[in-house]
Amino acid sequence: MITENLNIVGATVPSNVTLIAVSKTKPVADLQEAYDAGQRVFGENKALEMRDKHQALPDDIQWHFIGHLQTNKIKYIASFVTLIHSIDSASLLEAVNKEAAKKERIIDCLLQFHIAQEETKFGLDLEEAKQMMESDSFNNMKNIRIVGVMGMATFTDNTNQIRNEFKSLKNIFDFLKDNYFHDKDYFKEISMGMSDDYPIAIEEGATMVRVGSKIFGARNYTINNYCREVSITPIKINNM
Ligand SMILES: *Cc1c(COP(=O)(O)O)cnc(C)c1O
Repeated sequence: MITENLNIVGATVPSNVTLIAVSKTKPVADLQEAYDAGQRVFGENKALEMRDKHQALPDDIQWHFIGHLQTNKIKYIASFVTLIHSIDSASLLEAVNKEAAKKERIIDCLLQFHIAQEETKFGLDLEEAKQMMESDSFNNMKNIRIVGVMGMATFTDNTNQIRNEFKSLKNIFDFLKDNYFHDKDYFKEISMGMSDDYPIAIEEGATMVRVGSKIFGARNYTINNYCREVSITPIKINNM
């Protein structure tokens, strides 16, 4: 099933767009099947889960971290992570820089922007990003490299809205490129689009799409897992 799904999705992703197979919550055997079908780029959203899967699977996999990253968990992935998609504060970037220095690496990162209407999703706004780019501390960080932007559209059936949110991320990318990275060839990535909306994201300029359930099937969720993923606090109900 996974091999077949990968072939179907792969056929709809142009060769200049990176398909990230989002394997969070899925067992190692599922990732191995995707690997055997030729997939080499995987996305995870929990540091320890990613570390464990990295240890269990072949070395030539590129591991992309796509979830909210706590500073005290960076150390588990700093030695091998290929790209962190979810930089949403200056302090997180500083913490990544510090862990990368310990490992004598330069870690590529994306700035995550809040483009959705939902209140629950993490991300910067353009003003915060400008402040970051212009700060001395950013310009002194030698062990990180900002290679582009990431965003998540609103969870909605309204494809116009989704398209407009992707357009807004493309505009943010263009602004940052023109103002801070015009001479930096490595600043070129726009990570947007998931199972339900990645074709729209590709039309709007995505260079990376993050596709999970269309490849691996639906994830089994407990309510707590779900709340963690969308970053809301579960309501405590007495006597339950
Ligand atoms: C889970 C997740 C995805 C993949 O979601 P699907 O709808 O299963 O494709 C993409 N991006 C992020 C940030 C995610 O957390």
